[in-house]
Amino acid sequence: MSALHVVPNDPIVPKKPPVDPKTLGYRELLRGAFWQRIPAYASVTEEQFLDHNWQAKHTITNPAKLLAALQNLVSPQFIEDAEQGFKRAPMTIRVSPYLLSLIDWEKPYEDPLRIQFIPVASRLLPDHPKLDLDSLHEQADAPVQGLTHRYPDKALFLALDTCPVYCRFCTRSYAVGIDTDEVEKVSLKVSNERWARAFEYIRSRPELEDIVISGGDAYQLRATQIEEIGEALLGSPNVRRMRFATKGPAVMPQKILTDHAWVDALTRVVEKGRKLHKEVVLHTHFNHPKEITGITEDAMNKLMERGITVRNQSVLQRGVNDSPETMTELVKRMGHVNVHPYYVYVHDLVTGVEDLRTSVDTALFIEKHVRGSTAGFNTPLFVVDAPGGGGKRDVHSFEYYDRESGISVYQAPSVKPGQFFLYYDPLHQLSTAIQRRWADPGEHEQMIAAAIAKAKERVR
Ligand SMILES: *Cc1c(COP(=O)(O)O)cnc(C)c1O
Ligand code: SF4
Repeated sequence: MSALHVVPNDPIVPKKPPVDPKTLGYRELLRGAFWQRIPAYASVTEEQFLDHNWQAKHTITNPAKLLAALQNLVSPQFIEDAEQGFKRAPMTIRVSPYLLSLIDWEKPYEDPLRIQFIPVASRLLPDHPKLDLDSLHEQADAPVQGLTHRYPDKALFLALDTCPVYCRFCTRSYAVGIDTDEVEKVSLKVSNERWARAFEYIRSRPELEDIVISGGDAYQLRATQIEEIGEALLGSPNVRRMRFATKGPAVMPQKILTDHAWVDALTRVVEKGRKLHKEVVLHTHFNHPKEITGITEDAMNKLMERGITVRNQSVLQRGVNDSPETMTELVKRMGHVNVHPYYVYVHDLVTGVEDLRTSVDTALFIEKHVRGSTAGFNTPLFVVDAPGGGGKRDVHSFEYYDRESGISVYQAPSVKPGQFFLYYDPLHQLSTAIQRRWADPGEHEQMIAAAIAKAKERVR
């Protein structure tokens, strides 16, 4: 008798219990004229709201416009708090009507979208002493201005320095956006000459196979510029893969539905790449399930029909997506609209946004819950982008992690062999005794040296 023969009176395997319908909520996407709740958009039609030009034209660029759009939906105290917040922020304000309409203005302090794009002074926290404006040292690894060549076979091309939205947590706040009271920026304007130098460098390095086109944001490139970059890179024999990076689908999916010239240009580059057996994809940046609506679904369906792959990179942020439930819902909802979750970044060590950071421990905890909830290829890798230019490391791969001092130590043998890269958990989550040590610069070196000594014991 075969080992697989089933004995008739075997106990029946218990069935899986029915799922709680709430766990399928990720499939329910917001539709209807939700924007009409905002006083300024009360009579805006669907046709207007779907028009990317209308969205761009009505984008909020200062606190006065914010107040005008919301009228009496929020208290004057909140607007004052936001005004003070912007004065101290490294980024300027830029919020599309779409994004503004998705914020719950009855609870603006808790809203995950408000938290990401509109700073309020009353919630800001003092920076960790080790924070830095260009924490990834992108400029130090740039052979040409705006082209970072850090990894062996890939490079990051910062084509321009504007975005359809400005995120508080931007890693590139050293360059992206216009100067603020707090920060004078490095200029990365669109420039034929700078672009030509970048393309020339890429051609001159046979090991470069993979180019990320970012900024700023590919949404801000004109259709002709998308094709210009596409042609130049597809024409470089060494380039095998390209990705256009844009936050656009998360903040203005309308463009994909109504900016036909832009989507057609992208499609032509993708198709040309396909004929050359080179991969051209779109990378986007959803951070919260609320950012994915029926409009997003329509936009992603259009890209799906065109055969354009979309991947996602999220940033883990306190009060936004730092719970297993929210992150799982985000991951499942992205899968539902055919966006592949690729990375979840532990927040970079940028200044002015200490309130948004989470610890490495939080990332480990959330990852444990997300993994297993859906297909493995739709499960994001949680990474720390090693401060100082070590590149992205699996959050679990620290050589040493002292939860008490909040220091984790990473290595990156294929990127910068022999070096140690340190990440620092947010101050406000550490004990008061340790906070006191971080307040004394004389103690920093001791804490860091102790962590590195421990890491050295482990390194192979
Ligand atoms: C993130 C990044 C890349 C791309 O890295 P992947 O892990 O392949 O997504 C390339 N260059 C730089 C400088 C980067 O920061
Ligand atoms: S869209 Fe990206 S580059 Fe632009 S501000 Fe946001 S995080 Fe920074």
